[in-house]
Amino acid sequence: MRYSRHMIMPEVGRPGQQRLNSAKVLCIGAGGLGSPAAMYLAAAGIGKLGLVDFDEVDLSNLQRQILHGTKDVGRKKLQSAEERLRDLNPNVEVESFDCRLSSANALEIVSDYDVVVDGSDNFPTRYLSNDVCVFAKKPNVYGSVFRFDGQSTVFAPHLGGPCYRCLFPEPPPPGSVPNCAQAGVLGVLPGIIGTIQASEAIKLILGAGEPLIGRLLYFDALKMKFREFNLRRDPQCPVCGDSPTITKPIDYEQFCGVSMNEIPTVSVRELKQKLDARENFQLIDVREPLEYELANIDGARLIPLGELPERLGELDRETLTIVHCHSGQRSAQAVRLMRDAGFAKVFNLEGGIARWSDEIDSDVPQY
Ligand SMILES: [Zn+2]
Repeated sequence: MRYSRHMIMPEVGRPGQQRLNSAKVLCIGAGGLGSPAAMYLAAAGIGKLGLVDFDEVDLSNLQRQILHGTKDVGRKKLQSAEERLRDLNPNVEVESFDCRLSSANALEIVSDYDVVVDGSDNFPTRYLSNDVCVFAKKPNVYGSVFRFDGQSTVFAPHLGGPCYRCLFPEPPPPGSVPNCAQAGVLGVLPGIIGTIQASEAIKLILGAGEPLIGRLLYFDALKMKFREFNLRRDPQCPVCGDSPTITKPIDYEQFCGVSMNEIPTVSVRELKQKLDARENFQLIDVREPLEYELANIDGARLIPLGELPERLGELDRETLTIVHCHSGQRSAQAVRLMRDAGFAKVFNLEGGIARWSDEIDSDVPQY
């Protein structure tokens, strides 16, 4: 009864449903993309569903991560995900991996599954999941979202297509990508892309239709348009090419665009002392104007990171300078940029305005 709408279709039928019921799919991440993907896969009766996640549910997740509810805020995402999926379909075995995917565990986790759905949101995990899927010859159903845009494809060199490294051989250098910075995303968007990922996983298991192998589907929600690009395997690819140079899993640094080690910092407490003592220094906010409207620190001057290079002339190179953003990533890039431009005394506010709101001034709204 549960699967009757599948079984009456000639492309699925009883044999197809049996294939789904004995298939194993690994979802990397139980967040925006992983939520709809895991829910539709569970509903479809996938035999075993693996979930890899180490995070806890945050209130700001609920705008898009529909596996989790308001009652789950503060709990492990794996806990709420498991509950939701078991309720949706108790016949599905859910296997939870409470960890970050790393070079030490990735190959072992992936090798037990038939298909991988990558719902990760960072470069280290994306490269790692790509590489281990190439090694283990598992199709890797890729998805990513950014503001109003999303994309999906299936990486499967063993089935004739390219892998992620055929397109981007190496992760971007630290500092070049304002990636984890609060770019924002339309809440529905991971719903659309994650659902496409679930469809592709199901098609691969059924052997039905034409998978997104060698094709990148690009979605623009503002224009409400899908476009398609052909992708080709690169014979020079470092991992799936004819003479690969990468033959085992690699851990890239868990950075958000910049290596934080050599960036000098001040704490929110130190900033508070300096403000209270009316010390002479410049406080620069490198977030976007919309974020500034949501919340700001009194006395901070707004210069969005993108405008900073042209506007350095407005600032005094000799005065002590403290830079902040939302959580400290973009401001770390700003500090590096200003040091390179000859600012001698420039510091990053550790934890950004988020920590300022947490520890110093709760009247400053969290976002
Ligand atoms: Zn490749």
